[in-house]
Formats: sequence, C-alpha cells, structure tokens
Amino acid sequence: MLLYILLCLEVAARIALEVRERRLTQMRGGVFAVLRLIPLVNDIVPLPEYRNEVPESKFVKLHEEGHKALHHAVLRNLMKVAFWMVAVWFLAAMMVRWNASFIEAVLWLHMVAIPFRVLFHFYCWNQEYECDKYALEKTDKKVAKAAMRELAACEIPYTTFFALVYREHPTAMLRSQRLLQKVIK
Ligand SMILES: [Zn+2]
Repeated sequence: MLLYILLCLEVAARIALEVRERRLTQMRGGVFAVLRLIPLVNDIVPLPEYRNEVPESKFVKLHEEGHKALHHAVLRNLMKVAFWMVAVWFLAAMMVRWNASFIEAVLWLHMVAIPFRVLFHFYCWNQEYECDKYALEKTDKKVAKAAMRELAACEIPYTTFFALVYREHPTAMLRSQRLLQKVIK
C-alpha cells in the first residue's frame, strides 16, 4: 500500500517539476516530458541536452583531456557498479525477506534509487567543474568565456533544480558561474 502511495506522490512531484520547468523556461517539453512522469519509464528515457552540437573548440578538447587525466570515467563506472551490486542485493532481500513480488521489488528499488540518482548527478557535476577548471588553467579567461558562450547557445536551458534531477551535466549557467564567477549569456 505504502509503495503505491509513494508512486502516486512521485508522479505528482514530477508533474509539479515539469510544470515549474515549462513556466520558468517557456519551452515545450515534448513527448519526453510525458515519459518522464511515468515511474520506471523515467529511469531510462533520455534527456535531450543540446539543440545544436557543441563545436570542438580548444577548451572543449582540454575539458575532455581533463576527464581522462583525472580518471573520471573509471570513477563514474565504479560508482555505477557499486550501485548495481547494492541494487541486486536490495532486490534479493525484498523478495526473500519481505516476500515482495519481483515487480514490487523493482518498484521499491526505483523509489529508493531516486535520491541516489540525484547524488550521482551532483558527483558528476563536480567532475565537470573540475575539468572546466583544468581547461581554464591551460588556456585563459578569454578562451573560457568564449567556450561558455558557445555552450550556452547550444544548450537547452534547463533550470538548476530540474537539471539536478535529470542531468549528468551542470547547466552552462552554473558552469560559467563556477568557472568565471559570472553568468555568460
Ligand atoms: Zn565533461
């Protein structure tokens, strides 16, 4: 029973988040916006991040070099493996100890995973900031500013809260704020 109450609350919260996003950004959500409301489906539906492809500038290349130098992919994958191991244990425990059906166990996992997903996004955001800093140290403020401007032009402008729930990348606004202490538009 509790599970179904939580699922209804989740859908209501996601509708509220979606409405808030549409109002603040004045942009249409499209079919993905509907899919994001449905539990389990919203775990796999992708979030489009860019309107246009971001040009391969020197800054972008150095940012990517930063990911490699700081072993970010390995760290992210280790976290994912750890999460999946806990998830399998969780499913088994739900079914064996609590006599939940497979579907119920999966739905519980989906609920429990929501805050962990946000934490994971926060972790990824810090990696992105680190790489922006890495690229800035190897170039200069002018290059970084131009790169942030390009990024902002290519990006779909989500709000911070929405991005934290759904995105592994911080928004261009947050990145320029963190990197250059001002918002580049
Ligand atoms: Zn990156």
